[in-house]
Amino acid sequence: MAISTSVRHFFFRVALLTLGLFLFPLLVEAAVPRTCGPGVTVKLSAPSSNQGSLLLLEVRSSKPLSEVTAEWNSKNVPFWQVPSGNSNSSKGAAGDLREAILGVDLEKAPGTYSLAVRVQSSDGKPASCTLQIPIRAGKFATERLQVGKEFVEPDAEQIKRANEERDKLRAIFDQITPEKLWDGDFRVPLDGVTTGSNFGKRRVLNGQPGSPHSGVDFPSLTGTPIHAAQSGRVALAQELFFSGNTVVVDHGLGIYTFYGHLSEIDVKVGDDLQIGQVLGKVGATGRVTGPHLHWGLTVERARVNPLQLVKLLDNSSKKPETPTPQ
Ligand SMILES: [Zn+2]
Repeated sequence: MAISTSVRHFFFRVALLTLGLFLFPLLVEAAVPRTCGPGVTVKLSAPSSNQGSLLLLEVRSSKPLSEVTAEWNSKNVPFWQVPSGNSNSSKGAAGDLREAILGVDLEKAPGTYSLAVRVQSSDGKPASCTLQIPIRAGKFATERLQVGKEFVEPDAEQIKRANEERDKLRAIFDQITPEKLWDGDFRVPLDGVTTGSNFGKRRVLNGQPGSPHSGVDFPSLTGTPIHAAQSGRVALAQELFFSGNTVVVDHGLGIYTFYGHLSEIDVKVGDDLQIGQVLGKVGATGRVTGPHLHWGLTVERARVNPLQLVKLLDNSSKKPETPTPQ
């Protein structure tokens, strides 16, 4: 009995060790380039991610590629091509470099997810590879509030209105404009502000779990100008039940920024905005406790922390990987 137990322990330990050896390369491989067919490498900005986060995906080829596709979150990933000889960085110096942003929704179940990448070089055979990406639970605060019943239970008409507006927003976020409407880094929409709060916060109102807070809040004075985080096209500019006066900007490739609780909207649907252009003013419209900007980011329907987009592309354009021959 004693022997068989220790033998079982031995095999258990061997099994654990084997599993560890097997898992370790999966966890580290995503951060370093790996090959995906002759002369093609695939790289992620981090080996793993968290709920509500972003990853930058790079596909680099020594020869021109005729097609690059990938599937993430059961959706086709929209890639863009980094122009060769880009003066900001050495990234596009030779060959073909494609990039894409992957969003991890703030409620995506933790686990390991596959990212399948397929490439077709203009003079070769198709190749494919699969990355395993571990997704961890985000660290979000939970807020428990006791409030008057009328604040958590809107009447039938208000519920109908809120549902219609939610559907309208979903229909907008589902549209993938195929062109990349911006160039360079994203910025925080308020001047002189670098951090905000409340992203992903779970709210429990009178013991009932509400939906998590899907944006970042920036408390500010009413009337403070709000700047477009990047260039894009206005997809929505109207008053909504929960977010008050709201503007949504389409940046192309499934990327949308959302600005809520405005005192004043200064743009209309269809307007083409430049980065930094004033689209409205901070206010306290909709369901708020005080004046602030609610800033949201949606990437192919995934609700992610917009402050991460400011950092992600900032890092990517300012961190050369290989020296550029002059
Ligand atoms: Zn908010």
